[in-house]
Amino acid sequence: MVFENAEKQLDKAKKHIKLAQETEETLKLPKESFAFSIPVRMDNGHLNVYQGFRVRYNDARGPTKGGIRYHPGVTLDEVTALAFWMTIKCAVIDIPYGGGKGGIIVDPHKLSKAELERLSRGWMRAASRIVGPQRDIPAPDVYTTPQIMAWMMDEYSTIVGQYSPAVITGKPLSVGGSLGRGYSTALGGYFSVREAVKKVHVGKKVAVQGFGNAGAHMARLMAQDGFTIVAVSDSKGGAHLDSGFDFKKLEDVKAKDGRVDAYPGSKKITNEQLLELDVDILVLAALENTVTKDNVSKVKAKMIVELANGPVTPEADDVFHKNGQFLIPDVLANSGGVCVSYFEWVQNLYGHYWTENNVNEKLEQKMVKEFNATFEIHKSKSVDMRTAAYVLALGRIDDSTKDKMKL
Ligand code: NAD
Repeated sequence: MVFENAEKQLDKAKKHIKLAQETEETLKLPKESFAFSIPVRMDNGHLNVYQGFRVRYNDARGPTKGGIRYHPGVTLDEVTALAFWMTIKCAVIDIPYGGGKGGIIVDPHKLSKAELERLSRGWMRAASRIVGPQRDIPAPDVYTTPQIMAWMMDEYSTIVGQYSPAVITGKPLSVGGSLGRGYSTALGGYFSVREAVKKVHVGKKVAVQGFGNAGAHMARLMAQDGFTIVAVSDSKGGAHLDSGFDFKKLEDVKAKDGRVDAYPGSKKITNEQLLELDVDILVLAALENTVTKDNVSKVKAKMIVELANGPVTPEADDVFHKNGQFLIPDVLANSGGVCVSYFEWVQNLYGHYWTENNVNEKLEQKMVKEFNATFEIHKSKSVDMRTAAYVLALGRIDDSTKDKMKL
């Protein structure tokens, strides 16, 4: 499903840009795919073998970049699709990277901390042949954490005999992480909404699906800027309060009760009902394939922000475009995370660390510039914003591919 969606989006964009034959050909297959086994000694003395992956999809614009996912449902196909997606995302936000992705088929919640450490170091031992500060730079993804990044960095540094923070991003601050990385995805999303409302005039009523890292920071940033957050949800359900939530109180409720729908005075709603509310802006910050052809017609929001990866299917995309509902696509809306990962890598290579303000200002410049570049294509070619972002990215990948490979 994920790869199918990526292919459909690529095919749609290719109707609006002429790519060199070299670019078409090199985008068809990943540059390198690596599947490997990771033997791990468990606490009970047994040896378990896990399946690990790393895919470097395309490196026309620079070393490949992308997270490592720990999940029982990981497949090589999924990792490949996500690596392709990273190729597009890094080009949209114009950082000098190609796209990669990695994973392990595992439910990390079933492992002890020591087992998780041995598994993570095992992934890096195997993948050390393919990753590297100038080759391929992993990062966290689903169920991988700054702690795991630190173990992996340490393992790689031991293998090459050099302290190598630039081999991986999303690290704790003490081992070369960047200030601002923790909320950079939401901050980038917020900057793109701020630019969007200058062009597409909508009101300030907002619903946010998913109150995790991305969604909660997004709700906070929007509330601080005068938007009214009238609905939020997490996996346990949603809450609706027409007068708007007090963000601090909402955070306290989530911390204390572990769910947002315990907010006093709010009305409990389902996640499906949240999507259908009469709001101005709908932020999708939870799961993929949330809005499909089956429920798209019920979405009333005038602006939809994909903070999660792939929450709107291509069929639903078409309906939004036809109805004049403005969508900020994932490859743009959530690119703040990989952008600050890039800043982390630059700081590691320089051995010079920036202030939080400095990081955030640089992110703002990037988001404003690339949002507007995408918007211009959206207008000039009369295409939806996702197709516009793909056209922007493909043009950049095409330039680099032609310059390296043309006759
Ligand atoms: P997270 O695990 O911190 O939060 C996910 C949230 O979604 C949780 O609040 C969870 O309760 C909620 N949720 C789960 N199932 C739900 C459901 N059925 N309905 C409503 N809510 C549900 O994850 P995150 O880091 O915030 O990531 C969210 C999305 O953003 C993912 O698609 C991720 O790939 C994407 N993303 C995150 C980052 C980042 O830096 N955190 C970067 C790029 C993309």
